[in-house]
Amino acid sequence: MRILVKGAGVAGLTVAWQLYRHGFDVTIVDRAEKVGLGASGLAGGMLAPWCERESAEEPVLTLGRTAADWWEAALPGQVHRRGTLVVAGGRDAGELDRFAQRTSGWEWLDEAAIAALEPDLAGRFRRALFFRQEAHLDPRQALSALTAGLEEARMRFVFGTTGDAGHYDRVIDCTGAARIGRLPELRGVRGEMASVETAEIKLSRPVRLLHPRHPIYIVPRERGRFMVGATMIESEDAGPITTRSLMELLNAAYALHPAFGEARLLETGAGVRPAYPDNLPRVTEEGDTIHVNGLYRHGFLLAPAMAGEVARRLRALQHQERRAS
Ligand SMILES: Cc1cc2nc3c(=O)[nH]c(=O)nc-3n(C[C@H](O)[C@H](O)[C@H](O)COP(=O)(O)OP(=O)(O)OC[C@H]3O[C@@H](n4cnc5c(N)ncnc54)[C@H](O)[C@@H]3O)c2cc1C
Repeated sequence: MRILVKGAGVAGLTVAWQLYRHGFDVTIVDRAEKVGLGASGLAGGMLAPWCERESAEEPVLTLGRTAADWWEAALPGQVHRRGTLVVAGGRDAGELDRFAQRTSGWEWLDEAAIAALEPDLAGRFRRALFFRQEAHLDPRQALSALTAGLEEARMRFVFGTTGDAGHYDRVIDCTGAARIGRLPELRGVRGEMASVETAEIKLSRPVRLLHPRHPIYIVPRERGRFMVGATMIESEDAGPITTRSLMELLNAAYALHPAFGEARLLETGAGVRPAYPDNLPRVTEEGDTIHVNGLYRHGFLLAPAMAGEVARRLRALQHQERRAS
């Protein structure tokens, strides 16, 4: 069965990977000139289903809890299993109790335990929640590595095109926010981020700073770099970050540790997260096309489960076709 995957974001690449593993002949096209220029390249890369459950439905936890295993199997060595630390400033300390009530899989840490885990945060927070089972990865590295693996396995990539469905038995449409207005109920949620660099502070794991209006997170990357994210704005505007959002992100980073005040600002970005009304992803069918969309703020977390679902459906189809012939 010849398969065309449209869109080389995290949805398209995980689907392509899963299909290649099941022996399908896959071509991947993207209208951009390289992978990861959509929302996926801007993500934090947190694989944090227990934390996300604070504002998400149960399937995010049930489908997302094995995501780190999937990524580790696909890209050995790229998944950092160091948990997530959740803190709140003095005035917002009540936010931690509220977060704890709405989630599971955490343990309370006191000041000494926080310092043992993240020495540079010593003395800054009296208590924290630690989600030991969570993990993170670098999205751009992960997307590049999946692409390299697929190319090595002789799957074809064609960039700068939307593809010609006529040559294929099935199309898997993974074009994310580009389908807004064309897939029923799909909407956009704008997410802005900043990337900073400083040698003055080291973090080993994502840290979430709770705040009633602007909860943010900081995800450490290699070589003293940090991703600071992310806003959540009901909008399909992918234009540059606003000054207000940038101020809020950087203020929060500064509140986490003043060393971020001297960090260099490397990059800012804004992406549109495709979302359905329940903020859960869907695999839907329309003729010979299967759509994988609505990954919302859980692209890296839930794409593996969606890719598994696509593979199951295609294998069932293949089975039926073989029996019929
Ligand atoms: C700031 C920010 C932080 C985030 N942090 C996290 C996180 O920590 N963890 C997590 O799990 N998720 C996170 N997310 C969510 C995650 O990034 C998205 O859910 C995910 O990127 C959606 O992936 P996608 O492949 O559906 O879309 P995209 O990544 O947007 O990919 C769609 C691709 O389709 C291509 N395309 C569009 N139209 C066509 C066409 N007609 N033909 C061919 N190609 C086409 C585009 O060029 C693009 O490459 C974050 C998102 C944002 C914005």
